[in-house]
Amino acid sequence: MSTEWYERAVRVMPGGVNSPVRAFNAVGGSPPFAVSASGPHLRTMDGDDLIDFISSWGALILGHAEPNVVAAIEEAARRGTSFGLPTAPEVELAELVTSMVPSIEMMRMVNSGTEATASAIRVARAVTARPGIVKFEGCYHGHADPFLVKAGSGAATLGEPDSPGVPAATVADTYIARFNDLESVQRCLAAGPISAVIVEPVAGNMGVVPPAPGFLEGLRRLCDQSGALLIFDEVMTGFRVARGGAQERYGVAPDLTCLGKIVSGGTPAAVYGGREDLMRRVAPDGPVYQAGTLAGNPLAVAAGLATLRHVAENSALYDELESLGATLEGELAGALNDIGVPGCVQRVGGMMTVFFGPSEVRSWDDAAGVDRERFSRFFAAALKNGVLLPPSPFEALFLMRAHRDVATEATQALVNAIEAAA
Ligand SMILES: *Cc1c(COP(=O)(O)O)cnc(C)c1O
Repeated sequence: MSTEWYERAVRVMPGGVNSPVRAFNAVGGSPPFAVSASGPHLRTMDGDDLIDFISSWGALILGHAEPNVVAAIEEAARRGTSFGLPTAPEVELAELVTSMVPSIEMMRMVNSGTEATASAIRVARAVTARPGIVKFEGCYHGHADPFLVKAGSGAATLGEPDSPGVPAATVADTYIARFNDLESVQRCLAAGPISAVIVEPVAGNMGVVPPAPGFLEGLRRLCDQSGALLIFDEVMTGFRVARGGAQERYGVAPDLTCLGKIVSGGTPAAVYGGREDLMRRVAPDGPVYQAGTLAGNPLAVAAGLATLRHVAENSALYDELESLGATLEGELAGALNDIGVPGCVQRVGGMMTVFFGPSEVRSWDDAAGVDRERFSRFFAAALKNGVLLPPSPFEALFLMRAHRDVATEATQALVNAIEAAA
C-alpha cells in the first residue's frame, strides 16, 4: 500500500516527499505513509500500529491528536480559517509565550522555523548595522540562504554554500564555529563585524548534543564583549527541555529567541521574539520589514494555545518526561554496553539520541564519526518491533507525555533493536 503511493508520489514530488528526511534515504527503503495517529501510536497505510518517536519532529509534546488540541482547532475552524485582521487569541498566545519564556518580552508570529530564524537575523543585522553572523557546524536553523553553509577547508572560519542555488555572496558573511568550543567562536568574532551568534542551545539537529558546562554562559559573555546579539534557536528546545526552554534550564538569557514546533501544537506556525527594544525595530513599529498573509493563523493559534495552556498548568509534565527519558536512556545505554559496541546515549529532557560509534559527542566532529550502517540496522529492527524512530542517525527521538502508557513495551522493543544491531 505505502509502496504504491510512494511510486505515485515520486512521480509528482521530489523524492516523493515534502521534506527530504521523510524519504528514508539515510536508512534505506521507502517510507510508510501515515494515515492517522492517537496518543503515542501512529497507524500506517499498511495497517501497522507503531509506537512513534518522530513525534512530528518534536512538534508534539502531549501526544498525537490530543483531544483538547483537536477540539480547539475544530472550534476555531468553524469561526473562520483566516481573517487578515488581528484576533484576541493571538494576543493571548503572545501573553502566554512571553510569560513562559524568560527572555521574550515581545514577539511576532511567522509560519515556520525557517522564517523565524531568517527574521531574527534580519533584526540583528539591522540593529547592529553589521553583516556577519556566526553559526555552529551541525546546527540547523531552517533552509534560508544565510544558514545553508558548510565549513570550509582547514581552519577557515568562513563557510561555503551547502546547496546549489545559494550564492557564495549570501553566505560570505556567515562564519562557522564549532559547538562547545568558545575559542572557535572568538576566532569568528575577531574575523568580521558580527551582528549575531545563533545557536541551538541544546543541539538537536546533529543528534542530541548538550551544551558543555559554561558554553552558553561563555557565548553570552563573548557576545556582550563584542556587541553581537545572542540568538537562541529554540525551535526544537522551546517548551521541550523545560517549560521555558533551554534558556530557563541553563539560566542564560539570549537577546532574541526563535520558537517553532511545540509552540503551534503540530500546526504550521513559529515565533521570533526577545528584548522589547529589539522587537520595536520590527515593522510597523520600526523599519525592519517582515510580514505574513497567514501569520497568526487562527487554527495554528488555537492549537498553540491549547497546547501551551496545558503545558503551563501541568506542573508535573516536565518531571514526567524527565523520568521517562532517564529510564529509557538508562536501558538503552545498558543494552549498548551489554553488546559491547562503542557508542553513547545523549539526552536532555525529552529529546535523546543513540550514537553508535563515538563514546561522547560534543560537536559535529564527533557526530560525523557515527556508524551509519549500524544505525540503519537499529532503525530497521526497531521498526520490525513496532517502534518508529527518526530515520537518520543525526536526529533526536522525541518523548511525548503519551509515551508513558507504552514505556515498558517501547523500551523493550528498542533494547531488542540494539541487540539486533550488534
Ligand atoms: C525544525 C527546526 C528549524 C526549522 O523549522 P521549520 O519549521 O522546519 O522551518 C529551525 N531550527 C531548529 C533548531 C529546528 O529544529
